[in-house]
Amino acid sequence: MSNNEIKIPSSHPRAESLRIRERLINGFKKGLVAYAGLIAHGRGEAFDYILGEKTHSFAIKAMRTAIALFLTSKHPVFSVNGNVAALVPEDYVKLANLLNAKLEVNLFYRTRERELKIRDALIRAGAREVLGVDEEYRAEIPEIKHLRRFVDVRGIYKADTVFVPLEDGDRTAALIKLGKKVVTIDLNPLSRTAQWATITIVDNLVRAIPMMIRIYKDLSSKDKEDLLEIIRNYNNSEVLSEAMKTMKENLEKLAEKGIFIEEARRFQR
Ligand code: ATP
Ligand code: MG
Repeated sequence: MSNNEIKIPSSHPRAESLRIRERLINGFKKGLVAYAGLIAHGRGEAFDYILGEKTHSFAIKAMRTAIALFLTSKHPVFSVNGNVAALVPEDYVKLANLLNAKLEVNLFYRTRERELKIRDALIRAGAREVLGVDEEYRAEIPEIKHLRRFVDVRGIYKADTVFVPLEDGDRTAALIKLGKKVVTIDLNPLSRTAQWATITIVDNLVRAIPMMIRIYKDLSSKDKEDLLEIIRNYNNSEVLSEAMKTMKENLEKLAEKGIFIEEARRFQR
């Protein structure tokens, strides 16, 4: 631990949230995370507060369907950005390996240095192969203007299903318009990504990826027909409605009280 890192006491009421923040800041210092990644994290935290920082049934439903979809896809690809590499490298690689999915580095704020650092972090986390960093395999998605239009011909370019946690809306829409199935994790059910994706997991990345590993263990022995049935019964619009209603109900309950931290209330005059 370097001198300017803080040690978070486990008694701190928001210890877990602070630990995740520290992981992201360390990822930033190592050059994995972009400035915008820090801002995106703060946006996610705000929604997680409203969700009570827990995984809800609508997210579990989306995760089960996502695993069923990955298991029945011909060419699933897991996209990796700086926040994913900083927050959940081992579990993300583990899940990709279990599902025989390719891993591809794909950055909104692309620099050669950052993509190589992310590749190295994935290899340290157990990745056998990392796509998206070799110039000779570069293809373009013309619908997208910025640097994220570059994808790997062996990866996202030919994928039928793409996993893009914490993705930007333009790219999600472009992937959908290319006929791909898109799975995302996004705490904001209002984001364009959440709205465009085939399956939106409204949950924190750090809770969702380990949970998806558990769900994989449950579903991996199922017949293909059972998996297709799970996919057929899924409705992403309903799942987004449930997420928004849960946020609304949580806020309504808290709004009844105003100050809902009892100890804080006692200090009011
Ligand atoms: P969009 O482009 O989809 O309209 P945006 O521009 O608001 O969304 P982006 O930076 O493009 O946001 O995407 C990042 C998304 O990831 C945000 O919606 C943010 O709430 C979400 N997010 C950030 N951290 C986490 C996390 N740890 N777990 C889940 N979602 C997160
Ligand atoms: Mg965006």
